[in-house]
Amino acid sequence: MTRLLVLNCGSSSVKYRLYDGEVVLDGGVVERVGEDGGPADHASALRELLDRLDLADLSGVGHRVVHGGTRFAAPTLIDDEVIRAIRDLVPLAPLHNPANLVGIEAVRRLLPDVPQVAVFDTAFHRTLPEAAARYAIDTATADRYRIRRYGFHGTSHAYVSRRTAELLGQPYAGINTITLHLGNGASACAVAGGRSVATSMGMSPLEGLVMGTRSGDIDPTIIFQLRREGGMAVDDIDDLLNHRSGLLGLAGVNDMRKLLRRRAAGDPSAELAFEIYCRRIREYVGAYYALLGWVDAITFTAGVGERSPEVRAEALAGLGRLGIAVDPGLNLGTGDRNIAVPGAEVAVCVVGTDEEREIARETRALINR
Ligand code: ADP
Repeated sequence: MTRLLVLNCGSSSVKYRLYDGEVVLDGGVVERVGEDGGPADHASALRELLDRLDLADLSGVGHRVVHGGTRFAAPTLIDDEVIRAIRDLVPLAPLHNPANLVGIEAVRRLLPDVPQVAVFDTAFHRTLPEAAARYAIDTATADRYRIRRYGFHGTSHAYVSRRTAELLGQPYAGINTITLHLGNGASACAVAGGRSVATSMGMSPLEGLVMGTRSGDIDPTIIFQLRREGGMAVDDIDDLLNHRSGLLGLAGVNDMRKLLRRRAAGDPSAELAFEIYCRRIREYVGAYYALLGWVDAITFTAGVGERSPEVRAEALAGLGRLGIAVDPGLNLGTGDRNIAVPGAEVAVCVVGTDEEREIARETRALINR
């Protein structure tokens, strides 16, 4: 048996899972790190956590690391040089990579002999063609500041696209899928034969779909306008677009369940937010359909994608001519399944994502090699 710890050190939380083989022995989340009522910082949160867990016979620790830049295309065994490389990417992920590093350093100090593996959110998207990764701005300027599309949620898109092939009983290498990860953060990905060829998050996780608190796509001139006419500081604009926009900005709630309740009660701002959210998903589905040429499956995952039949139905409404039709009865069911109308050309799948399990799998594969 292989006992593994998976750590996901976010900007203000630490999620953890302890596995014995495939069995989850323990797991949870330490919240409010660095805030009132929570641990003072990541290091003390981890110290408490590692003290409390039964880590006898631990054979490895897998870390979710948000930004792997252009360098990391696969999970990587952590050494001094890898730590330096993750630190070098901090300017590209100022909230996330530092927290990930604290986790890595804390484990090193407390469990120096246990191998650690970094599993990067960006790695799956290293297959993006240059035409998908490059923004249409001056090349020298872009390169100087490492401005390009990196894409995120890679662990989830990889897992659910592979799982979709299993559900369809087809070889992963032979199918085209559009995966829609709709959680607090949200992103779309076009996967051709197991390779990410387009994705909606860009240089940062701000671009693309409408999210709980993030705007997704906007005209960059909005930022100039807020700066010039509104006199807002750059950090305040950053905070507005990342933490006070999306569903929260439109309707005052970032939780989709609450939004759906308000919409059902006839709240017009909730209705509008729902329409904007679903419309954006449909735009990406159309765009990725055109890029891929043909699509075998569209797959919904994460909190909203797995649990909201309303969003799934609305996002794909009216696409019958593209071979896409959601069956209302199957849409209401549960579990990993195809919810397309029987006989429809394109499968519509709902797949439960499990990033921790996937990180454990990747970690196990690397340390057993
Ligand atoms: P994270 O991105 O933090 O991992 P999740 O994948 O758990 O988050 O997604 C969180 C989102 O899922 C929240 O907006 C939440 O309201 C939504 N959600 C959870 N359950 C439901 C449900 N039954 N119906 C609609 N939305 C749901």
